[in-house]
Amino acid sequence: MIYILKPGELTLKRGNRAGFERILIRNLRTLLALRGLKGAGERVETTGGRYFVHCPQEAVPQAEDALNHLFGISGWARTRSCEKTVESLLAACVEEGKTLYGQGLRSFKVEARRTDKSFPLDSYGICARAGEAVQEALPEFKVNVRSPQAVIQVEIRERTYVYGMTRRGLRGLPVGTAGRGLLLLSGGIDSPVAGFRMASRGMGLDAVYFHAFPYTGEEARQKVIRLADIVGAYSLGIRLWTLGFTEVQRRIKAGTPEEWGTVMLRMAMMEAAEKLARRIRATCLITGESLAQVASQTVENLSCTGSLTGLPVLRPLIGTDKEEIITLSRSIGAYETSILPYPDCCVLFSPAHPILRGRVGEAQRQYRSLDLGPEIDTALSGAVMEKCGLRFPDYSRGGK
Ligand code: ATP
Ligand code: MG
Repeated sequence: MIYILKPGELTLKRGNRAGFERILIRNLRTLLALRGLKGAGERVETTGGRYFVHCPQEAVPQAEDALNHLFGISGWARTRSCEKTVESLLAACVEEGKTLYGQGLRSFKVEARRTDKSFPLDSYGICARAGEAVQEALPEFKVNVRSPQAVIQVEIRERTYVYGMTRRGLRGLPVGTAGRGLLLLSGGIDSPVAGFRMASRGMGLDAVYFHAFPYTGEEARQKVIRLADIVGAYSLGIRLWTLGFTEVQRRIKAGTPEEWGTVMLRMAMMEAAEKLARRIRATCLITGESLAQVASQTVENLSCTGSLTGLPVLRPLIGTDKEEIITLSRSIGAYETSILPYPDCCVLFSPAHPILRGRVGEAQRQYRSLDLGPEIDTALSGAVMEKCGLRFPDYSRGGK
């Protein structure tokens, strides 16, 4: 099987397109190799702004799973490659027409690109002849140039390619072109989606999870590992750092007025995350916060929680409503895991009446008086790291 890939947004990069392309191809090779496609180096071919992936028929599920996890392409398609003669080309177009018709599509047009000018027909000639040939073979499959249900694409290059239905790519930019961020990953719905969103802009990810054992059990941690696996499959892996936060939480509970509890905990998470980020050379923090979703996410409280860190705090879901977040969560395959009912540490310690509009000055005073530095340092020195996102389904049993 040969796949054709269409580049996405990187076509907008002028001067540094080559650099983006290099990373895109490297990522593609890694995704193929991770799925056991050996010799991934030779499988990927680039010419004239298109990328081709070659793979044996039995490795189709692996290859397609890799393509479905690659940021930086706007679409991909299975192609038919044929001899560079008019007869072979027309026969391939008819075959493609039959496939599309078999999928229930009832109108089509042909689009052609010819970079090899020695081919006897020009683009217009190819479209006309192929259209006729398909119509003759399938009288019910109608030509519709304005709004066809299907497009049969022909490319005449060093080989001849014919392809129909194009699958939508993940778009975005290749991971590794926009630095590295540290994602605050809880077991909820939002933070995995936030990580996915940043990876879609080319950012590599590490993640930190604050665990409050025994208030939150091993199941909760396993759930977060699973979520890191899911997001990491798109970001070429995630290092997940688990930090024990029980002492920090106890100190907050004992030492602050109840209504400030959640804001104090968020500030402590930010402080610990910043320290970890600097150690692992991540240059920003990422959270799943969404404006006004819960009490701790009012503008005022977000100002409090972000007020102690010198790193940018990226909140890619800030203006996204919950339904949209859920749709995204389902589309990346995280939702079913996110809704497993193991409580997060924050739920157990949340006050009944949290402060809604905390003032930054007061938040900082409260926070300083807690003097959490030693507990945070202890949490950091006991951090456990796991590499996630690099495990894949057993394709021999039909893939996922
Ligand atoms: P999520 O669905 O991501 O858990 P949420 O709607 O439950 O978010 P909060 O619990 O208020 O919202 O958490 C806000 C953000 O704080 C999360 O999106 C996440 O980035 C971070 N966060 C919360 N709890 C933890 C935790 N235990 N470990 C790491 N990060 C956390
Ligand atoms: Mg949460």
